[in-house]
Amino acid sequence: MSHPAESLASTDSQTVAPADTPVRNDFIRQIVREDLAAGKHAAVRTRFPPEPNGYLHIGHAKAICLDFGVAAEFGGWCNLRLDDTNPAKEDPEYVRAIQDDVHWLGFDWHALRHASDYFEVFHLAAEQLIRQGDAFVCDLTAEQVREYRGTLTEPGRNSPWRDRGVEENLDLFRRMRAGEFADGARTLRAKIDMASGNINLRDPALYRIKHVEHQNTGDAWPIYPMYDFAHSLSDAVEGITHSLCTLEFEDHRPLYDWCVDKVDLAHRPELLAPLRAKGITDPAAKPRQIEFSRLNFNFLVMSKRKLMALVQEGLVDGWDDPRMPTLQGIRRRGYTPSALRLMVDRVGISKQNSLLDISILEGALRDDLDAHAPRRMAVIDPLKLTITNLPDAHEEQLAFANHPKDEAAGTREVAFSNTLWIEREDFEEVPPKGFKRLTVGGDVRLRGAGIVRCDEVVKDADGRVAEVRCTLDPESRPGMEGANRKVKGTIHWVSARHAVPAEIRLYDRLFTVADPDNEESSGKTYKDYLNSESRRVVRGYVEAAAAQAAPEQSFQFERLGYFVADRYDHRPDAPVFNRSVSLRDTWAQKA
Ligand code: ATP
Ligand code: MG
Repeated sequence: MSHPAESLASTDSQTVAPADTPVRNDFIRQIVREDLAAGKHAAVRTRFPPEPNGYLHIGHAKAICLDFGVAAEFGGWCNLRLDDTNPAKEDPEYVRAIQDDVHWLGFDWHALRHASDYFEVFHLAAEQLIRQGDAFVCDLTAEQVREYRGTLTEPGRNSPWRDRGVEENLDLFRRMRAGEFADGARTLRAKIDMASGNINLRDPALYRIKHVEHQNTGDAWPIYPMYDFAHSLSDAVEGITHSLCTLEFEDHRPLYDWCVDKVDLAHRPELLAPLRAKGITDPAAKPRQIEFSRLNFNFLVMSKRKLMALVQEGLVDGWDDPRMPTLQGIRRRGYTPSALRLMVDRVGISKQNSLLDISILEGALRDDLDAHAPRRMAVIDPLKLTITNLPDAHEEQLAFANHPKDEAAGTREVAFSNTLWIEREDFEEVPPKGFKRLTVGGDVRLRGAGIVRCDEVVKDADGRVAEVRCTLDPESRPGMEGANRKVKGTIHWVSARHAVPAEIRLYDRLFTVADPDNEESSGKTYKDYLNSESRRVVRGYVEAAAAQAAPEQSFQFERLGYFVADRYDHRPDAPVFNRSVSLRDTWAQKA
């Protein structure tokens, strides 16, 4: 059950920033800079604290880039801490995926910790609070606790158990820990202020009884610390200087500070003895919580609970479905770590919550892939084109640049023959006005190969065009005088004999409406707005140099969009490509 102790020890390495890190100056970095200038800390320490109850999503990427980024930029450390205080919902599968995701985004942690590594410390801290008269064992049921709590406009009432003596509290708490009581029978509560305007301060629970096996500690504990208590003390234990979290925790900050101040780990080394026994010797400190706005995009849902429902109800093909906003999903879709970091930089850090346009996310991917993805040719809706003035056995290799703006990307050979596949939509028998591609009697440039004229079409039994027959202008071949002859259109192609048949998965947005969480209409939920066209699977052809791709390699398929070789299913002899994003924002035109 428990993980090896070696992984608990800190390394000496500082957190390192990815090479493309620009200089940033948001309000959090300003605070950090001022704190350092004022000599408040020897070094910056941050942490990224996901709860292992699901897969990380794009929103978490913002927190990861911020937590690890700040540490790296100021020469400090960032820990990855699995916030595993809610055993019923947590699973080692999520713990593994979270580590994979953080590494993939380009970051490495100073130490990998679990909040559960500190259960002994929390327990000693709770006893300390009891001895100080700052905590008591309460026998109210959950329902009674709610009644006593009051409302936003009315103060709460003191629990009848609030004035128990220290000895009785210590005894009851010891028996809670020994597993003597049933789930929910008692809680340990902080003694703060039932009249506080901040409901979080109305004697909040610090411990609850839960006879549940824990993914890290097994059945060692029948009681579990509550989030606020565990989180604030975990930060203090690790010597976190700046505890960065999202705005919904703003109201919790007074409780966070209360826990840190009352327990005062920095001055109570005896409470840390259980950790020193495990080799953890972080300098406990008083952390400062700073909140920033959550990342939200339209056309997506971004809560683990809702994503879990999509998975469990079979509405998507798992957490790593390329339509999911999980990091595992968008990774499979073809998003790159640098595109996500670029997106986070463009969005910036502020205290303003907002629903951002998904074009910011897609735009970052386009810009990243435009700069870095090699170009290839692929045909996803094939129509046969025969060049009648070349022999059947004709075969040549044409040199194509891998990237139009990057000579260093080199060239590749693309096979050319007398039988090609072109996109069905690049031919029209009855061309609409302004059509610039191939039509009977018309010319078109075959990208990099020459100019063809269509002489006739061959139809199948249903009257559908099955083949276009063309002549190639011999003067228009690469390097010839006539190669620059002006024609209206250029189309892409692959050689039928040389191209590799491929499965192409055409992904689109998962939801049809901008705000599926809050769509105004009777009784519908986000699940009623799934885009039925969000995945289409077609059979096409890719040039040999695309088929050879390694899994997760991205390309621009010329004129079609950006595609990635599927992380799991792609094989050079049976290629599978996922469309990551189209070349342009086609939704903006629809709107
Ligand atoms: P969800 O609501 O999706 O379940 P969560 O907040 O419960 O997410 P945690 O695992 O608790 O997820 O989050 C780990 C860290 O990531 C926290 O510091 C949290 O503030 C941050 N985080 C979570 N969602 C977002 C988001 N959408 N934008 C920015 N940061 C986020
Ligand atoms: Mg949470």
